[in-house]
Amino acid sequence: MESWRSPHVPDLAHEAPAPVRLGPDGEIPETQVRLYVCGITPYDATHLGHAATYLTFDSLVRTLRAGGHEVTYVQNVTDIDDPLLERAEKIGVDWRELATSQIDLFRSDMTNLRVLAPDHYVGAVESIDLVVQAVERMGDTYRLADAAAGSDDVYADVSADERFGEVSGFSREEMLDVFAKRGGDPERAGKRDALDPLLWRGKREGEPDWDGQSLVAGRPGWHIECAAIGEHYLGGAPTIVGGGSDLLFPHHEMSAMHLRSMGYEDSALYLHAGMIGYEGEKMSKSLGNLVLVSKLVEQGVDPRVVRLAMLDHHYADDHHWTDADLERASERLAAYQQAVKDRREGGAMTALVVHDCMTDDLDTPAALWALDAWAAGDAPRVAGGDQREEIADLLTTVDALLGICLIGGPFDTACGCLESL
Ligand SMILES: [Zn+2]
Repeated sequence: MESWRSPHVPDLAHEAPAPVRLGPDGEIPETQVRLYVCGITPYDATHLGHAATYLTFDSLVRTLRAGGHEVTYVQNVTDIDDPLLERAEKIGVDWRELATSQIDLFRSDMTNLRVLAPDHYVGAVESIDLVVQAVERMGDTYRLADAAAGSDDVYADVSADERFGEVSGFSREEMLDVFAKRGGDPERAGKRDALDPLLWRGKREGEPDWDGQSLVAGRPGWHIECAAIGEHYLGGAPTIVGGGSDLLFPHHEMSAMHLRSMGYEDSALYLHAGMIGYEGEKMSKSLGNLVLVSKLVEQGVDPRVVRLAMLDHHYADDHHWTDADLERASERLAAYQQAVKDRREGGAMTALVVHDCMTDDLDTPAALWALDAWAAGDAPRVAGGDQREEIADLLTTVDALLGICLIGGPFDTACGCLESL
């Protein structure tokens, strides 16, 4: 599937891969990183919650690459699944049309926010064969007939996996509760274990289906989709798996189990972005309070301001978006731009601090505090430093790591900072 246009990222000089600390106890020492990030199910316009998740992994890729790591980045699009079909039926449009329009909107949001494109952007529909082949290779699967549909579904047996539960650390009670709430079918009669996840859904009247080769005709389950796409496009199991924190269970737990069943015993590092609410409530379509990136941009908000507003929160924290977030970010952008014009001193030291903040679990709020201090004239200075060089150093770092160009226009994809200094 076609990705979006990646912004230019200036090179930061590095000698050896810098270790990047992630999460409570993760560190990325390897040079080669295989990153898999769970993409959108294209049934709902892309709101700030989605944007914050993909911005998190944009920050991660920028930080890893700037530190000398080679990153292969794969992101999927779940362009066939129950929520997409249900929404399409509800609003009376073809599911393919709904998916295409939502994917287009997502691409334009990502471009406007200068979010790095993955190396491979892959849809479920174009990956049906990969999923079928993965299911065929897996042990510990079983078929369950649906007499009314005259079709068979295929499930994975969680009781056969000794390490099941390792990703979430949830108790069985928690698992059962969350599984039911997040698309699972614990009540389905005939399953070996209530938690067994669906690998392949046999053909149903009125639903799209594809050739399942040795399986019956049907369509893929969600967790196996990510395991199969990741394996194929990364050339093995991922070293880092990312997504919103609502994917911890069952999605990431099940995908990890599937990868083991496909022969990969090494655990990935799971990294989750927090959830975003709106002024004290959950952000949801049903509450009618979705804040859309596309709407903000339409209203004339500079995408760099949206980006700064989101970077003001640590990726792992849940937070509530308020309109004041935008005001604060807008003031910040203006202050930083003014400081560039004024050739504020302390750019080189501030660039180092920003870099350190990012390698310390992507601490973007701390990176912004360092920029605030610099803009206010409170940054430590290098005695005898060349002001133009110092400013250039800081502009390059802010562009490379935070994805913000402080001189060009709001929609520039290639930073013109240094040329215009
Ligand atoms: Zn996924």
